[in-house]
Amino acid sequence: MLMSSTEFFSNLPPKECSRCGEVVDEMHECYSNECLECESEIR
Ligand SMILES: [Zn+2]
Repeated sequence: MLMSSTEFFSNLPPKECSRCGEVVDEMHECYSNECLECESEIR
């Protein structure tokens, strides 16, 4: 049985950056709890 990935993600709460509170792109979730901007600031 196939489940649409769009449907699957729509059931999840939006992930927010732990620093600035921006919603983090789901594609990016493997890296950290921070958005691309904050993550690049750290390094
Ligand atoms: Zn951020």
